[in-house]
Amino acid sequence: NFAAGPATLPDPVIKQIQAELPSINGSGMSIMEISHRSKMFDDIINAAEQDVRDLMDVPDNYHILFFQGGGTGQFAAVPMNLATKHKKIALLDSGHWATRAGDEAANLGYQVDVLASTKNQHYQALPQLNQRISANDYDYLHITTNNTIEGTAYHQLPEHGDVTLVGDLSSNFMAEQYNVNDFGLIFGGVQKNLGPAGVTLVIVRDDLVQPVDHIPSILNYNLFVKKNSMYNTPPVFNIYATGLVLKWLKDQGGIAGIEKVNRQKASLLYDFLDDSKLFANHIKASDRSLTNIPFTTGDADLDTQAITAATEAGLMNLKGHRSVGGLRASLYNAMPLAGVQALVDFLHNFEKQH
Ligand code: PLP
Repeated sequence: NFAAGPATLPDPVIKQIQAELPSINGSGMSIMEISHRSKMFDDIINAAEQDVRDLMDVPDNYHILFFQGGGTGQFAAVPMNLATKHKKIALLDSGHWATRAGDEAANLGYQVDVLASTKNQHYQALPQLNQRISANDYDYLHITTNNTIEGTAYHQLPEHGDVTLVGDLSSNFMAEQYNVNDFGLIFGGVQKNLGPAGVTLVIVRDDLVQPVDHIPSILNYNLFVKKNSMYNTPPVFNIYATGLVLKWLKDQGGIAGIEKVNRQKASLLYDFLDDSKLFANHIKASDRSLTNIPFTTGDADLDTQAITAATEAGLMNLKGHRSVGGLRASLYNAMPLAGVQALVDFLHNFEKQH
């Protein structure tokens, strides 16, 4: 399953969920039936939080919060909670999801300044800042670390002066290493690398969490910190399943371990594409994503034929996003190397026949 999300989950996790679904911890109740106010769930959410802390080496002065509403919910929550002083946000326009974030903040009445954009390069490279920006001018700078649709990623963060950096990590959360200290806030839905859709992780530095009036409780960081992410009923099953994926990730050697595999997977496909006379990836080499790889023959009909034949061969969800066209392979944490090898073998044979 090469879908951009929700995506493949680790096999052992699916099997564990299957085995535990009728009764969790000998309780005679399904995880889907237990109270979020129970000791059992307290243990589950606290373990998940600790595992995020261990995996990402999250410093003590950062909170780990579990929200609903996806990355899209955070496009609204982040400005409402953080853009309280200047009501001004700086943004690097790296593609569709950066634009969505900017539009949502603008819609809520915040000033959004796009400081750099690669729109006129079809987002095939990343925008960089050629000016130092200051916390005196902006509440924060918003970046999308991995651009799911366009297939680019910041492997090194852009220079950003002393302004608070906010990262939308939705599509490479724990797929490659970032230093939490470089950000004031990180967010992302778990449905690509870390679990089933329904949980949104927010990691936020303590000094940025302030009481804010007149914002919805469901998006209020201060309230969620106080209530340990349980102001209302959290998605109990999804947090449990995410917790299992986090344990699996630890077994893979943590983020360093999985990043190594992710690099092998991406290299396997990029090397094939760079050698191919039929398929090509057009992203600037240094900006290529590890997790989302768009490619094309340059002929829409042939691309469609390739997608159809791949589907028949059991290689699912390779259709590119409608704004880009072509094909896209999403190689998130749970996609094994063997899956990418099967894709490359298929593409190689398709090329021979065409
Ligand atoms: N940001 C990025 C980089 C994404 O890839 C997505 C979804 O694919 C989103 C935000 C939106 O996330 P959600 O669907 O969880 O609202």
